[in-house]
Amino acid sequence: MQVQQPVQAQPSQIAVLQNSVVVFSKNYLPLARINIKRAIALLVTGQAESLDSSTKHWPIRSPSQVYYVSEHIRLTGSNPERLWKVPPVNRREVLRRDNHTCQYCGSTKHLTLDHVIPRSKGGTHTWDNVVTACTTCNGKKGDRWLQDTGMTLKAKPKAPMHPAVAFAEMFWAQQDESVKT
Ligand SMILES: [Zn+2]
Repeated sequence: MQVQQPVQAQPSQIAVLQNSVVVFSKNYLPLARINIKRAIALLVTGQAESLDSSTKHWPIRSPSQVYYVSEHIRLTGSNPERLWKVPPVNRREVLRRDNHTCQYCGSTKHLTLDHVIPRSKGGTHTWDNVVTACTTCNGKKGDRWLQDTGMTLKAKPKAPMHPAVAFAEMFWAQQDESVKT
């Protein structure tokens, strides 16, 4: 964090505290967007540093000084993403992945879990074979192969993405957008 002399025409402290900051891992992978207070805590305790490539810096005033917090900061410690594990295949996690939506008809009511390849036909209880289905679709599909039902899946089921990877994809997509405009 840089310490500089106060400059004129700064936005109010309260407005500044509404901003958020993107945290990068030690390996420069964008991890998450956090509020500026959290960013200040990480910077002050030495757990993160400002990234020089940042274009924006927000002034944070203490009684005697103005600190500048950049819009991108980088963790100085080891990667927190190592702690993440693929969640277990259960109702709560599958519904969360599928955004609480039946993967056949789009209904958001009376949701159950469906094995795409039925268990009786050797289907496994794994992320690529379990989807959210409403009771109507689940009943209609029954114990049949999907191709025998005329029903289709909205998306190919797969394990949830690492949150940092998901965030990184979104972050870079946004960067591309801002380059185009
Ligand atoms: Zn349905």
